[in-house]
Amino acid sequence: MVFQDPPGLGQGDGAAAALEEARAEPALELAHVLGERRLAQVHALRGAPKASGPRHRQERLQLPHRGLHKLQLIGRIRTSDWRLCKARRYRHECMEMPGSEAILRLAAFAIPFALLAAVEAMTPPRRRIIGRRRRWVGNLGLIIVGTIIVRAIPFASAVAMAGLADNRGWGLLHAIGPVPVWMGIAASIVVLDLAMYVQHVLFHALPALWRLHRVHHTDPELDVTTGVRFHPIEILLSAGFKGAVVGLLGAPVLGVIVFEIVLNAGSLWSHANLRLPGMADRLLRMVVVTPDMHRVHHSIDRVETDSNFGFTLSWWDRLLGTYRAQPTMGHEAMVVGVAGFAVRDVLGLGRLLVQPMVRQPDTLSDLGARHRSEERSLGLTGRKS
Ligand SMILES: [Zn+2]
Repeated sequence: MVFQDPPGLGQGDGAAAALEEARAEPALELAHVLGERRLAQVHALRGAPKASGPRHRQERLQLPHRGLHKLQLIGRIRTSDWRLCKARRYRHECMEMPGSEAILRLAAFAIPFALLAAVEAMTPPRRRIIGRRRRWVGNLGLIIVGTIIVRAIPFASAVAMAGLADNRGWGLLHAIGPVPVWMGIAASIVVLDLAMYVQHVLFHALPALWRLHRVHHTDPELDVTTGVRFHPIEILLSAGFKGAVVGLLGAPVLGVIVFEIVLNAGSLWSHANLRLPGMADRLLRMVVVTPDMHRVHHSIDRVETDSNFGFTLSWWDRLLGTYRAQPTMGHEAMVVGVAGFAVRDVLGLGRLLVQPMVRQPDTLSDLGARHRSEERSLGLTGRKS
């Protein structure tokens, strides 16, 4: 049985009033938590009734005897569409959403993944040397571990952060006043994609971050699963960075969801073992990153690795001088990966999880450079010339 809203709930500090109620009944189950502060509504349910609000799944929260601060309470909620509902502005949309954000995101991952994997299987332009199964276990294992960790931490997701920013009125878009929905979505995609570009450059430039991001680059071949091969700590750092940008921008929840879907699908697409006809590639590249454009970034040649950092939009590399049209050795002959790593060290979930702790093995050119610098320090150079 659903409690009736106590008089005054929805005005004043409604959440506090409802929590008083919950505190008296520690095994109480909460069905909805909508909004915070003035709009907070906590609908509590006794027992486990089958039907609650329209299209809402239920989530049981055991409250401790001493009560819980409402922010912590909201942080404990796992059902994504409730998080969405918490933002006053999107409450209306959320009621009409066909499913929860989690289902939407899963579909937005599974559908492009299945399509791209099927096309790759038919005509892979780059010959496979290592069997798909050997690589896929580690690559897919990483995304599963990463998703579990991010989901377990309240407010680690950019969508939850957008809800919080919306409630508190944080960020640039709130400061300049209400903007049309399409503008909020467009601004979110463009600004967050630029932020991802900057983050990617930093992950290459700073040695500690490169150790994490190197896990992505040590994939000895490229296909759709490389698009999710990221170390969980990189995923977590990226979620924090994205959250900060979302807060500063005041990105709307819907904009962040659209961005996340585009980013994930775009990552699968740009890592796929596909080649578009030359004209199609050139036209698409004017706006988005294509598989050929991103493959250059996975070259074993560090000069090529430090180019084409863009995720979705191809503009940032062109504007900021990091664009490289093609790999020097051509797409079929180019070597993918990071120099010095043996194949056995870059496959399997366990090895990938500990790989950031492993020092990058020396390559012949590293040894040559060290030899030359030792010669210089001993004053041996210059005699021959
Ligand atoms: Zn990279």
